[in-house]
Amino acid sequence: MDGIAGPEREVLDWLTGQEEAMVSLLAELVNIDSGTYDKAGVDAAGEVLKRFFREAGLAVETVPHATFGDAIRATLPHPTANDQRPIVLMGHRDTVFPKGETARRPFRIENGRGYGPGTADMKAGLVMNAFVIAALARFGGHPGPVVALVTSDEEIASPSSRPVIEAEARGARAVFNAEPSRADPKLARHVVTSGRKGGVFMALDVYGKAAHSGAHYERGISAIEELARKIPQLHKLTDLERGITVNVGLISGGQTVNTVAPHARCEIDLRYVKAADRDEAVAAIRQIGETCSLPGTTAKLTISGEFLPLERTPESTALYEAYRSAAGELGMEVAASFTGGCADSGFTAAVGCPTLCSIGPVGAHGHTPEEYVEIGSLVPCAQALALAVLRLRDAG
Ligand SMILES: [Zn+2]
Repeated sequence: MDGIAGPEREVLDWLTGQEEAMVSLLAELVNIDSGTYDKAGVDAAGEVLKRFFREAGLAVETVPHATFGDAIRATLPHPTANDQRPIVLMGHRDTVFPKGETARRPFRIENGRGYGPGTADMKAGLVMNAFVIAALARFGGHPGPVVALVTSDEEIASPSSRPVIEAEARGARAVFNAEPSRADPKLARHVVTSGRKGGVFMALDVYGKAAHSGAHYERGISAIEELARKIPQLHKLTDLERGITVNVGLISGGQTVNTVAPHARCEIDLRYVKAADRDEAVAAIRQIGETCSLPGTTAKLTISGEFLPLERTPESTALYEAYRSAAGELGMEVAASFTGGCADSGFTAAVGCPTLCSIGPVGAHGHTPEEYVEIGSLVPCAQALALAVLRLRDAG
């Protein structure tokens, strides 16, 4: 860190003194319920960030949405850079928690860990992005325009944010997605994500015919029996070697114990590694799902949500190496891992933009009451990101 001077030094030094302010912004964000379907709450959390961005002197733009929270773009321009494609700092502000959760479990710090709904996934990442773009606005030195993009519905596969994310990534130079990083004693104190599986969430509805199972059994056609025949076939599509998994995670159906079931439903989660495998796997699931063997039954498969895979490319590997070397200069040990979990980074990678994911503050146990973020990682992760951005030299 000794050889760092100029704006780089100023940005890093300023961030060193921001832990208290970062924690205070984090507390404010965590204490606003922002479950994905709570538009008012997601927008209220957005207002806090918009205020912060405006105070940092950034241009703020809202991309409105009628059903889900609005998307927010804060822009730091660079009129003279040869490469005008922005470097994008991305994050989502919706959580998986119901309204009222923040009153039951407000933000608190215990033994250096910050707890509360969405604290690691990913309000701490949003705080990091906000402070990084604010630092760059204050001291400059960034090699091109920088955009902080705050989305609203990642936890349900981004139905409203996906087009906004894809449009941003199509014109971007690189995307850093601030999902939490994790500590792994076997790898490093700071493990980021360089690859993710794609995922397709599907619902399969099976229809039969109701009948009194005591008086008129023979008049009925059991949708439950038909669905039950399909499930082992669906699970058999799993090919662990290719990284393809099919899981029937939910089943429901029937009317009463003494009625032949007129309807049954299951929900299916497909995961895959290679983009090229996606269509074939969905077709195989549809074939099994909609081909009925019990006469008189019918079935319909619908796709309810989807994430694309974050596939490694030479460009994304170079971005990871640049980040790792910047972090290394600050004394942070970084490693990369692959995960079956999905995120918005798959959408940006799929349109060809070099993407690095899970560079947010170190956290664990997302989606549970045990979720926490390491408070001590807020500043170092912000510094690593800032330095990585500063070092993406103007290509021109
Ligand atoms: Zn997340």
